[in-house]
Formats: sequence, structure tokens, C-alpha cells
Amino acid sequence: MAEDLSKGNRRDPGWKYNYLKDPDDTTRVTCNFCGKTTTGGINRAKQHLIGNFRNAAKCKKCPEKVREELKNYMEEKKIRKEVYNNMEEYYSSD
Ligand SMILES: [Zn+2]
Repeated sequence: MAEDLSKGNRRDPGWKYNYLKDPDDTTRVTCNFCGKTTTGGINRAKQHLIGNFRNAAKCKKCPEKVREELKNYMEEKKIRKEVYNNMEEYYSSD
């Protein structure tokens, strides 16, 4: 199960701007721009880049176009999840 989940997560555009601090630990994700490591998986790492989340410190070095890309992706994903009535994955980072 964990393997399938991480494979699915790798398609996330967030991985273009983050990398795993430890390849065996998918919860610890390091920001390409400022080097900060978050511990909530790729969703938390994206929250760090986008910055509009009270539970994640905003990245000071993330370019605005990257923020827009990730924001759009998260919105699309949220809408898809709502359609399928399955919000579990989207909110699982907390
Ligand atoms: Zn950062």
C-alpha cells in the first residue's frame, strides 16, 4: 500500500520543487529553493511553497509562478476529490 501511495505522489508537481531528504522517508521533504525540510509529506511541502496555510511557514525564495502552478494543481485536485466525494487523501497531511 505504501508503495502505491508514494508512486502516486511522485506525479505531483510539487516534486519538481522538492526532494526527499531521505529516499526511504516520504514524509520528510526538502524545499529546492530554501532548503527547509517539512515533515508532512509532499502536501505539507506544497503548503510551504504556496504559503497561504497557517500550519506551514511560507517559503521566502519560491518564485511566484511556481506558487501559481502549485495553487492551481491543489485547486484542481480538491475539485476532483469533491466530485468523487473522497477528501481523505487531500486532508491527510494533518
Ligand atoms: Zn522553501
